Amino acid sequence: MAPRPLIAGNWKMHLTLVEAGKLVDALGALMLEAPDKPACDIVVCPPFTLLAPLSIACQKYGFGLGGQDCHAEEMGAFTGNVAAPMLADIGCSHVIVGHSERRSLQGETDAMVKAKAEAALAAGLVAIVCVGETEAGRDSGKAEEIVVGQLLASLPQGATAGNTVIAYEPVWAIGTGRTPSVEQVAAMHKAIRTALAGPVAEAAGMRILYGGSVKPGNARELLAVENVDGALVGGASLVPADFWAICTSCT
Ligand code: PEP
Repeated sequence: MAPRPLIAGNWKMHLTLVEAGKLVDALGALMLEAPDKPACDIVVCPPFTLLAPLSIACQKYGFGLGGQDCHAEEMGAFTGNVAAPMLADIGCSHVIVGHSERRSLQGETDAMVKAKAEAALAAGLVAIVCVGETEAGRDSGKAEEIVVGQLLASLPQGATAGNTVIAYEPVWAIGTGRTPSVEQVAAMHKAIRTALAGPVAEAAGMRILYGGSVKPGNARELLAVENVDGALVGGASLVPADFWAICTSCT
């Protein structure tokens, strides 16, 4: 049986405290008023400053709460960083690791991403491990090889269907309004599922999200692709009606 879908909103470096409260309350109102609840789990991933203040509201509405990154160490002299146990301490359930913006702008390697994911698991968080090829990688005809390589090198030791989620995010589709074809998404998700069968006992149950310009207009089509078990949503997660429309596209 396919896993229950997960829709995760990556707010990136956006929103003030007041704006964030309004966004979560608007989503919560949609959830409370919906006669049929969406057939997915919902997680929001705000910037660090907004996590603690949103924790109670997210709990009330049944939304998971995720950080956008964590440090690989449990504690220590790492100025400006946040450790996975600190996220767990303020009510987070999830943390994104290895987002392409961190890989490209902060120089994060697969080994660093793996270490962060392992720290997340040790803290009891679900790690959302991001992988994806660049446009040059896609044009090279080796996208699947590249992504599977990244996946196997970034996957935490001890990954299970319960503690790890994979997010396939083609770098060229993030924030661009471009998406791969459903055939390309299907082929990549199948390649990821096949690769997971080696290191993960219950590979069939591990969620593989698609991310990159998911919008209300394309969500249903993308979420219907075999082996797509949800979405990681950037821009559209900042607009309550759009994020909600994506959540309700899950069947
Ligand atoms: C992302 O940042 O993970 C993302 C998928 O962004 P967008 O939906 O805006 O492309």
